[in-house]
Amino acid sequence: MTRDDHADVHAVARALARAPKRATRRTAKALRALVSRRGALTFTDVEDDPARFFAAHRALATHATTLGPGFWIRFTVQYNLFAGTCAALGTEAQRARLETLRRRGTLGCFCLTERLAGVNSGLVVHTRADWDGKTGGYVINSGEGDGGTKNWISQGLTADAAVVVANLFVKGRSFGPHGFLVTMREGAFGRLARGITVGDMGLKTTGNDLDNAWVRFDDFRAPAESLLAKYGDVDASTGEYVAKKEGIRTMDMIGQRLFTGRVAVAQAALTFVRRLFDDTKRYSDQKPCTMRGDSPALTDVPQLRALYDEGYATIDRLDAYVKQCENELCQCLRRREIPDAVLVQAIAVAKIKAVEGAIDLAFRLKQEVGSYALMSGTGFDNTDFLQCCKFAEGDSRILSQKLARDCFGAFQRNDQRSAVGVKSEIELDLCQRIDEHMRDAREANANVSKIEAWDSAWREVYRLAEVICERVMHEKSFAAAAAAGSVTRSKL
Ligand SMILES: Cc1cc2nc3c(=O)[nH]c(=O)nc-3n(C[C@H](O)[C@H](O)[C@H](O)COP(=O)(O)OP(=O)(O)OC[C@H]3O[C@@H](n4cnc5c(N)ncnc54)[C@H](O)[C@@H]3O)c2cc1C
Repeated sequence: MTRDDHADVHAVARALARAPKRATRRTAKALRALVSRRGALTFTDVEDDPARFFAAHRALATHATTLGPGFWIRFTVQYNLFAGTCAALGTEAQRARLETLRRRGTLGCFCLTERLAGVNSGLVVHTRADWDGKTGGYVINSGEGDGGTKNWISQGLTADAAVVVANLFVKGRSFGPHGFLVTMREGAFGRLARGITVGDMGLKTTGNDLDNAWVRFDDFRAPAESLLAKYGDVDASTGEYVAKKEGIRTMDMIGQRLFTGRVAVAQAALTFVRRLFDDTKRYSDQKPCTMRGDSPALTDVPQLRALYDEGYATIDRLDAYVKQCENELCQCLRRREIPDAVLVQAIAVAKIKAVEGAIDLAFRLKQEVGSYALMSGTGFDNTDFLQCCKFAEGDSRILSQKLARDCFGAFQRNDQRSAVGVKSEIELDLCQRIDEHMRDAREANANVSKIEAWDSAWREVYRLAEVICERVMHEKSFAAAAAAGSVTRSKL
């Protein structure tokens, strides 16, 4: 096995596909074994060798039509959200510990989402971690009621460790969301640490080989070294918060893992739908149809042939675009830099277009291949993999709202130099129409809230996001063609 062929990932995926039943314990054990193997993807490859990190995700996604979403989510939560956050936010000493955790096959979960907060709320959280000067550690609490309870936490019922995102309070002052690496379960029986309670989210329509949990913290005591402290720490001698790197907030670095996650999810969606097209085409190439004369194969019926042509062209175009985003992000990761606004926008576009494109193509293919699409094992039984891609690491709707809001904000400020502002006539026109809708809403009701006014223009908001997506993709592919020297005068 070479370092980059990911034979270990393929072998585990094939073994799981053969298993008669994929209970959560079995798949958790399979991940443990994969993680702890010699030569496996390391917990810091996301920064040290990001191309390898993305390739491993793609390798696993080639099995998603048979395995469904459970194991892929487990893998990306382990490597991107859990280990990747530790790598991004951890001090050198904390990063060094990651290799020990990997060799032990430590499973980790990532506790960000809460019943009333999470990625959709702009990473705001209600869970708080108070510095306790007397004991020299942190006290983590979900707070009163259910709003701060973490939910949908993947691997939450099987993980040994967790990265918990909580608001850090020192001497009663809030320093915003920070990441804490805590031990959840200990000993041979995996007893839960005192102060943590968990429960099953319940049976899902798909991916039941992945455990999803709600997790509560009630006076959970975490030692001082649990704070992932590369960018900020509490000085135990003074009890004061110390920002370690000017201009970088811990929060921005937590967001970094969402960028890697978005690229990995975009590629997984495209890998899934390409595999679905390949497998279906293999079937339709040899499936005879009645009344077809000299071209009897199902593949040759015109609507299906056209869909294959369009589908592969779309997947190729999207793949090339996402690959460009991956390459640019890899450069930032290796240099430990936060992507600039233009790349953040491009990655959001990648996630939206790849996932929505894959969903559209999978749905349309299903309509054209008759009874085959009903059969178990064809991949159509696992198309909810794409549903999971839609809300993972930033929901498509939320990302679309952000694209439109950034553009409209620049329009309102008349900021023509904004990198993510108005860049075309049609974007200007849509911003003007959104502005008119909002003015009408305010004239109709002086007490209308900002959100209500914005919502009154929701069709134009999503239209603006769609126009930005197409323009950004077009610009990037044009830039790539120009860099490759394949732009001629006639193309200009
Ligand atoms: C299988 C699975 C695994 C997960 N694993 C983890 C994990 O390991 N760790 C973790 O922290 N979280 C995890 N999550 C949580 C995941 O990130 C959230 O589910 C996601 O943020 C969406 O939350 P929701 O489904 O409750 O959406 P809701 O808030 O109920 O929203 C439903 C839909 O409404 C739309 N919508 C919502 N708000 C807005 C808005 N402001 N404007 C416009 N449209 C809006 C969106 O289309 C959205 O999909 C997981 C979720 C699932 C289902």
